[in-house]
Amino acid sequence: MTDTPVRVRIAPSPTGDPHVGTAYMGLFNYAFARHHGGQFILRLDDTDRERFNATSAHAILEALRWLGLQPDEGPEIGGPYGPYVQSERLALYTHYADQLVAAGHAYYCFCTKERLAEMRAAQEAAGDATMYDRRCLTTLTREEAARRVRDGAPHVIRMRMPREGVTTFHDLIRGAVSFENALIDDQVLIKADGFPTYHLATVVDDHLMRITHITRAEEWISSTPKHLTLFRMFGWEAPQFAHFPLLRNADRSKISKRQGHTSLHWYQAEGILPEALLNFLALLGWSHPEEKEIFDLNELIANFTFERFNTSGPVFDLEKLRWLNGVYIRALAIDDLYPRVEPFLIKAGILQAQPVPEEQAFAKQCIALEQEKARALTEFPDLVSFLFNPNFPYDDEVVAQWLRPAPAHVRPALSTLLEQVEALPDADITAERLEEIVRRIAEELGVGAGKVIHPTRAALSGRAKGPSLFHMMAVLGKAEIRYRLKRTLEMMKGG
Ligand code: GLU
Repeated sequence: MTDTPVRVRIAPSPTGDPHVGTAYMGLFNYAFARHHGGQFILRLDDTDRERFNATSAHAILEALRWLGLQPDEGPEIGGPYGPYVQSERLALYTHYADQLVAAGHAYYCFCTKERLAEMRAAQEAAGDATMYDRRCLTTLTREEAARRVRDGAPHVIRMRMPREGVTTFHDLIRGAVSFENALIDDQVLIKADGFPTYHLATVVDDHLMRITHITRAEEWISSTPKHLTLFRMFGWEAPQFAHFPLLRNADRSKISKRQGHTSLHWYQAEGILPEALLNFLALLGWSHPEEKEIFDLNELIANFTFERFNTSGPVFDLEKLRWLNGVYIRALAIDDLYPRVEPFLIKAGILQAQPVPEEQAFAKQCIALEQEKARALTEFPDLVSFLFNPNFPYDDEVVAQWLRPAPAHVRPALSTLLEQVEALPDADITAERLEEIVRRIAEELGVGAGKVIHPTRAALSGRAKGPSLFHMMAVLGKAEIRYRLKRTLEMMKGG
């Protein structure tokens, strides 16, 4: 099938918030498809009606778009093999299940839940593997079964797994993988509610959608012999398979909802850049041929091969993600960074909902001051809030150290600074000019520069730490410096 264009899919189940595992699968499927100039398809596996969640379907697509992993075909997008939502394809699954029944590869089963529970209990008591004992296959003739179905008896359709032999396939990441057929149960293909199971729907759709490579999480590896058997029963050529390693926490446990960071919405809310998240996910299990840590999606696409995977359960280290996120934040042009931070400033009440251009220009300058430091977009509101608030709160410790009671040189230093700033023409309110002034004041007072820089920072921000003082002063501007120095000098009187 070398000439066949590569077509891959992800088939998430819309059961809740879009999952980080979907992003992980999406990333590698997308990269593989793009590497080969093929197609990346989104299909919604919504056949489990009990767990279905209607808003989740749209959220999955939104999350993929946020990450820059736009599917070529899928729900809301369309494509030649739609619909891409399994619950809209029910007639197809019934058609193909009937075909298997007609060919003797599948059979009707009328066993009740109670009967199956008793059977399992007896098998367990006898120390046997629990699997369907084929009562409906062995005790009912096909005509009899068909008649009961026509009469409306509740039933499922089961696949008749071969009882001998081994199913072996070549996993593109793991090499040869084998399963003994005798250990595989007769899978239900159509449930009593008429819905297909995962196995049937997946195989039918992967065939009809011309999927060439199924690359999915390791947890599905035991489904693969069932799927291969179905492909064979239908007489269809099977795609190739690759099973990605499962993501794990540092203690090797599987990442789960309880830890909160499985939802992609969590990353958005935490101010993680999608580029950083992709780079982070790419490093989980895959490695760059030059061992690079920082690389973008295009570089992953260019270098993608299955050989570069290792299967030993990559560790999900959120600290590493934050570090990477910082790297990406620093690398952004300010005009690209600003619109990403703006919603966080609005949410924090620092900016009003529709900031006017002047407010945006000022906010942009404030963000630029802290761009080097932030490791998440969520950190910006706190880092810059004082710049927007002339009546910022003073930090107790910093007040005690520099302002109230103040060392003898502080009041004269701040007063002199105030006078000199007043005298400066607006055009001279630059970081360089302000630095000169502050350093000269320290010299004239016979103290080290730090002894003026720290109290000045305290006077202008109420904080012990912050962005470069002189740049921050330049952003604040003359009127604001004046107001803040006066306010602090006034406050100092109280001591
Ligand atoms: N619905 C399955 C999932 O949630 C799809 C598995 C597959 O890719 O076959 O991951």
